[in-house]
Amino acid sequence: MAEAKRDYYEVLGVDRNADEATIKKAYRNLAKKYHPDMNPGDADAEKKFKEASEAYAVLSDPEKKRQYDQFGHAAFENGAGGGFDFSQMDFGDLFGDLFGEFFGTRGRGRANNGPMKGANIRTSVRITFEEAVFGVEKEIELTLKDPCQTCNGSGAKPGSKPDTCGKCGGKGQVVYTSQSLFGMVRNVQTCPDCHGSGKIIRDKCPDCHGNGYISSRKKISVSIPAGIDDGQCVRIREKGEPGTNGGPRGDLLVEIIVARHPIFQRQGTTIFSTAPISYAQAALGGEVVLDTVDGKVIYEVKAGTQTDTKIRLKGKGVPVLHREGSRGDQYVTLIVQTPERLNAEAKDLLRKFDELTGDSLHAADAYTKKAPEEKKKKGLFK
Ligand SMILES: [Zn+2]
Ligand SMILES: [Zn+2]
Repeated sequence: MAEAKRDYYEVLGVDRNADEATIKKAYRNLAKKYHPDMNPGDADAEKKFKEASEAYAVLSDPEKKRQYDQFGHAAFENGAGGGFDFSQMDFGDLFGDLFGEFFGTRGRGRANNGPMKGANIRTSVRITFEEAVFGVEKEIELTLKDPCQTCNGSGAKPGSKPDTCGKCGGKGQVVYTSQSLFGMVRNVQTCPDCHGSGKIIRDKCPDCHGNGYISSRKKISVSIPAGIDDGQCVRIREKGEPGTNGGPRGDLLVEIIVARHPIFQRQGTTIFSTAPISYAQAALGGEVVLDTVDGKVIYEVKAGTQTDTKIRLKGKGVPVLHREGSRGDQYVTLIVQTPERLNAEAKDLLRKFDELTGDSLHAADAYTKKAPEEKKKKGLFK
């Protein structure tokens, strides 16, 4: 059973209204005083140090501070929902952040001669609008490293073995002790001689020149799912850089670049387009042919359709990513085309049409007929 926790503000010795800078300053003072490196073997100091670090971790984080101010320690009890587990907390990150400033420690130096996953590789591939909509299989070519067959990735000439690094004794990290203002300070750093591997290769493998890898051009098939959008990534597991010391390969992240389409625009799973219809079609109604990503479709336009009318073509949009059978819609804006090049007969027919239909739209024309003769003479009307 854990003993009751002290109030975090009390631990840091600050007022409940203390600002960020005050909280940080209070913690730094306590951390200097109780840091384990300053108090070797002092369990009480270590306890105080952890207590202060925990208090600081909460009060320096605006969201956690808000929760603590509202609920107290209960905010972070396991199972209380939304809380966090201090046993999982990486105090090291906190040290790196704070002690980096006043101890001059750079990097915490981690035991990096254990298995480590390789780095991810990023690349990109261009596809068409339709390929993004329906999915596509693409082959890409890139340079990949593979463990050298000759030395099995050790980098050492066959028959020879890498030596254990003399500087770090194979640990991959070195500890420096230095005198500082606050006493003796231990600094852990990645070994500069072996760069953390713990090994030194004297007899280098002739094929890979000691780095343990051979690079070669590789073709990799990328399965791009239907519905992918510009800027999204496809992750191909374990096609990245090889891992070290038996760790898995990193991943290959392929960014998808979708080309623009001359007719279609896309927003999520919705496709937008415009389609011209003739003046007669708009007025009389009838069948028009519309482009969709599935091909042409025939649509029945209502008589008296105005320009800019938007129609919805259900299920003609983009498939929802990773959800088969589910598609967005397409919206088509109908643009009524005003006829531009008319022959004499067409003009004649339009004039007749105008006479038959025109009244409210032709106010000026109607007005000229009634206009006094002198106004016409003054050139106000033709
Ligand atoms: Zn080799
Ligand atoms: Zn070393």
